[in-house]
Amino acid sequence: MSLQSKAAVVTGSTSGIGLAYARALAAEGANVMINGFGDAAEIETIRAGLESEFKIKALYSPADMTKPAEIAAMVDQTAQAFGSVDILIANAGVQFVSPIETFPVEKWDQIIAINLSSAFHAMRAAVPHMKAKGWGRIISTASAHSLVASPFKSAYVAAKHGIAGLTKTVALEVATHGITVNCISPGYVWTPLVEKQIPDTMKARDMTREQVINEVLLEAQPTKAFVTVEQVAALAIYLCSDAASQITGANLSIDGGWTAA
Ligand code: NAD
Repeated sequence: MSLQSKAAVVTGSTSGIGLAYARALAAEGANVMINGFGDAAEIETIRAGLESEFKIKALYSPADMTKPAEIAAMVDQTAQAFGSVDILIANAGVQFVSPIETFPVEKWDQIIAINLSSAFHAMRAAVPHMKAKGWGRIISTASAHSLVASPFKSAYVAAKHGIAGLTKTVALEVATHGITVNCISPGYVWTPLVEKQIPDTMKARDMTREQVINEVLLEAQPTKAFVTVEQVAALAIYLCSDAASQITGANLSIDGGWTAA
């Protein structure tokens, strides 16, 4: 187990890709702070399940990624409980689909806060812990939308392009401290986030559910298949390994060829 007793924080890990990261880190022996919203009993089942399945320590923070003070407190709580913060995966994210002229202002603010600013706040709080140990891995879940755009996703595409820039900047700042900073850019991964945007895309484009799946979602992906959450998590585990110590400031695509087109 290559990450034995490392301390990891994964934002937005009660579901989807974040949960897959948490499981993969735990499988490598890391202690994990999970975070995100959801049913309290279900979250406790996830937390306790990580501990019993992987024989590691798992904690849950309800920190709201729109609240900078709660983000910093979550990172500090991780350091107190596990002795350090070695791995940060900034993953929490939401989506909203609408033409620009009717895009709700509060949705813009919420997406920029959760999908972009929360990564800044978490990195800001985690870097001192990593510098103290001379080792760290920071990974953000960006998106194919950090490289290319799609209509009706102005806030999401802006936030994800921001993640790519933030990644490069922090990578340069910490390059001599044994800390790497990268982002992973998946194409369409079948998770609740994708499921939830189907009704709005049906409305925005006047399409059926099947049309949205085949003509909008998988249309972009040359392989015509969804990426799996386990595939994304496996890339993160590689980035945490010693073999990846010279990969920093990178934006790694895992998108079935989407951004090659
Ligand atoms: P998901 O909806 O399954 O999970 C999102 C997670 O974020 C959940 O745990 C949720 O509770 C949490 N979250 C939402 N708002 C929060 C808040 N204010 N504070 C704390 N936690 C909050 O979605 P997912 O598809 O697993 O997405 C995870 C990340 O991957 C996002 O950043 C998303 O943009 C990115 N991504 C997803 C896809 C895809 O196709 N699913 C593709 C590219 C990138």
